[in-house]
Amino acid sequence: MKKLALHWQILLGMALGVVFALLMTNFTWGPGFIEDWIKPFGTIFINALKLIAVPLILASLIKGVSDLKDISQLSKMGFRTILTYVTTTVIAVSIGLAVVNLVQPGKTISEDTREELVQSYGGEAESKRQDAQKQKESGPLQALVDIVPDNIIGASSNNGNMLQVIFFAIFFGIGLILIPEKTAEPVKAFFDGFNEVILKMIDIIMLFAPYGVFALLAALVVEAPSADLFAALAMYSLCVVAGLLLMIGVYILLVWIFTKRTPSFFINGISPAQLLAFSTSSSAATLPVTMERVEEHLGVEKEVSSFVLPIGATINMDGTSLYQAVAAVFIAQAFGMNLDFATQLGIIATATLASIGSAAVPGAGMVMLVIVLAQAGIPEAGLALIFAVDRPLDMCRTTVNVTGDGAVSMMVGKAVGKLRDFPIVKNWDDNYKA
Ligand code: ASP
Repeated sequence: MKKLALHWQILLGMALGVVFALLMTNFTWGPGFIEDWIKPFGTIFINALKLIAVPLILASLIKGVSDLKDISQLSKMGFRTILTYVTTTVIAVSIGLAVVNLVQPGKTISEDTREELVQSYGGEAESKRQDAQKQKESGPLQALVDIVPDNIIGASSNNGNMLQVIFFAIFFGIGLILIPEKTAEPVKAFFDGFNEVILKMIDIIMLFAPYGVFALLAALVVEAPSADLFAALAMYSLCVVAGLLLMIGVYILLVWIFTKRTPSFFINGISPAQLLAFSTSSSAATLPVTMERVEEHLGVEKEVSSFVLPIGATINMDGTSLYQAVAAVFIAQAFGMNLDFATQLGIIATATLASIGSAAVPGAGMVMLVIVLAQAGIPEAGLALIFAVDRPLDMCRTTVNVTGDGAVSMMVGKAVGKLRDFPIVKNWDDNYKA
């Protein structure tokens, strides 16, 4: 029998996970069973992916940068990458604002529901607010200071410090370009081999993806809050999801216009990374797979993908910024506030910056939302309103974050002449055969 393509296997795993959890909730011992015996496998799967992130960034970025002929090539690509990332983020926030202003989901929330939500989730919202407070208390240049680590081993020991590892890797790569070629050769060869090993490890981990997502989704279902709360927030959630779908349409269009690659080519290539982003809610955990898909299936040369993607996973969060815009205006509407045009422009600026500052881990977008709210003068207590549906929306926005990184890497690849006409792997799942 022909083996099912990976993205179908992952989808099947997700669907079975949900069905299994729904069945288990009929038994009193069911949820406990999933917590104790199923969820750990999901955690192991995510841990294995995260385990690869730091070595992958080090190996591939050092290799990518040192493969460039000179520093001017690097700065050209760097400039283009950042510009495209910021542009797509601004488009995303604008889409979010347009949708939420058009539908006005906040107006449908009754006073009673609002009270109930604030009561149920006030505590959790407060802890997010405190996290955000810590970030706000630092000086204006703290974000810059945070990029430069004082110890590379220390920086590599925390996946939250991805930007620091990226800084080190680019710096190291520049050093490698500048030393005589003969001396650089063995170092490059080492990182080449190292990179190959890491990619193989990803292949092996991905063999377990369908089981991993089964466990993750099953655990999510038994931990989810009641369906009533979902219903109250349905309009808001629909606005976020509609905005996110529009944004995926924008990527497809951009890829089509700028690289002449068809929508089905793009979606086929990126879909396993999307599904994984959906299941893990973490761009960082998905990065290894995003890189592999983009290089081997979408035809972007390593020199570009190894530079553009790790940076994208850390700073380009279009889904997050779109969600922040919708959430901010929704909360304002629910509290009966009318936001003027200038305030909404302010939301574009703060949501763009807040999404850049959000870590690529589950729930990070909500912490940074506090900053958007504060800037726009919207009550922070409103966080409690949207808490119940944050996780499913996190899954959706992470999918968009990862899709955006893939699309931009293709566009940058095309612009600098590093997009192959044919992908390395023509048969989507050749590299996942054991
Ligand atoms: N979970 C998202 C990501 O990893 C960040 C967020 O919470 O919006 O991309």
